[in-house]
Amino acid sequence: MRLTEPEHHPREECGVFAIASVSSVSIDIFYALRILQHRGQESAGISVYNNGIKSIKGMGLAHQALKADDIQNLKGDLGIGHVRYSTVGSSTIENAQPIVVSTNYGDIALAHNGEIVNADKIMNDLKKKGWAFITSSDSEIVIRLLANDIANTGDPIRSIRNLMSTIQGAYSLAIMIDNRVFAVRDPYGIRPLCVGRTKTGYAAASESVVFDTLGGELIRDVEPGEIVELLPGEIKSIKTGLSKGQAHCMFEWVYIARADSFMDGTLVYEARRRIGEQLAKEQPVDADVVVPIPDSGRSHAMGYAEASGMRYSEGLMKNRYVERTFIMPDQADRTTGVMLKLNPIKSVLKDKRVVLVDDSIVRGTTMRKIVQLVRNAGAKEVHVRVGSPPIIAPCYFGIDMKTRDQFAATGRTVEEIGKMLTADSLGYLSVEGLVGAIGHNASDLCLGCLTEEYPIPVPGEKVRYQRKLDSFT
Ligand code: SF4
Repeated sequence: MRLTEPEHHPREECGVFAIASVSSVSIDIFYALRILQHRGQESAGISVYNNGIKSIKGMGLAHQALKADDIQNLKGDLGIGHVRYSTVGSSTIENAQPIVVSTNYGDIALAHNGEIVNADKIMNDLKKKGWAFITSSDSEIVIRLLANDIANTGDPIRSIRNLMSTIQGAYSLAIMIDNRVFAVRDPYGIRPLCVGRTKTGYAAASESVVFDTLGGELIRDVEPGEIVELLPGEIKSIKTGLSKGQAHCMFEWVYIARADSFMDGTLVYEARRRIGEQLAKEQPVDADVVVPIPDSGRSHAMGYAEASGMRYSEGLMKNRYVERTFIMPDQADRTTGVMLKLNPIKSVLKDKRVVLVDDSIVRGTTMRKIVQLVRNAGAKEVHVRVGSPPIIAPCYFGIDMKTRDQFAATGRTVEEIGKMLTADSLGYLSVEGLVGAIGHNASDLCLGCLTEEYPIPVPGEKVRYQRKLDSFT
């Protein structure tokens, strides 16, 4: 059981990286993990191939988890890396990735971003057959299935495809099988994964911004259901034919990904600006100044200000060195955490009608504190505008929003949520507005936590486009 719950924002999930090069890769992998750090802060790890797979792992941020000497000493031209935030499995070093197993075929290392929906069923079935598991992580199931299959096929690509036919859910994988490196994206492409060039080879990463940092360039996104083999001089694409459509997570554009990443063809920053513009059209308000919740609401607020013609001002200063609010163990501490993290700039807020813009509201308790903070700084009115529709349902695909009772929008109208926040008014973006701003068809996005309709069958939930029983009568 997790000790604390996500509060202001859901926590991100994980970041993966894979590389094949003509020179040692451990330092490139370390830099990639630092760039992907926003996707996971609990643990970090690197595996390289050098006559077998060698790994280093640790708890915390990449630069805390991995020692400089260990990184330098980890020599190998092929490798994978991982930063983790657990959505399944507890936060312990045993669950840190890459996970490595030894087989007759050779060593296998795995880094996983996402969540396997049928993990419990697979694990129970395997336990009945006598399999034993060391961790509580769904990623262990993935590597054990793969290792077992390779023992039978002796063919890494065939075994990866067999694996993809068995597991269901969201997965972007970096896999090293003996001295071969693969990047794999689930058949709906729920979690992001892209391939690019580095100065000395080819790589795959959760986000394209990694290639900017490594002095390389993005080539393209990995397609849903595609296996890509990375070689020092080329990439090889293997189409599995397993993709039945696309369902990219809308939350990557709204909050999770870095604003400077391209995701499935769309620059995240541009999507957020458009979200803000659309929000201004759908939820206008007569006010004096648009103030972002730093850093998450910044691009949305810029778009809102631009479309509304209102002044944009930084009215809240963020202390970058205070830990995230949700690590505080109880409600009282969380309140202190918000105050420690944000300080109002009184001259911006005093006697003003303020529009506070953020990307999303999960519980609403932090936003309530911020509204009070702004009011105490002398604001005449505080209007809250949100760059996504109300979150009403859990995520089963790798974002830590697990139960309906945690959401501000559960059992409340928008007006009631506004009252709970003590805001003068509250306005959310519509689902149609969000889809239009992201710039993909609704049928190519996962909107499950907004619509309660999921792209993959989840026990007890409705599948997207599922016809209701009464439509047959
Ligand atoms: S349910 Fe929501 S957070 Fe989860 S993958 Fe779908 S859109 Fe993303």
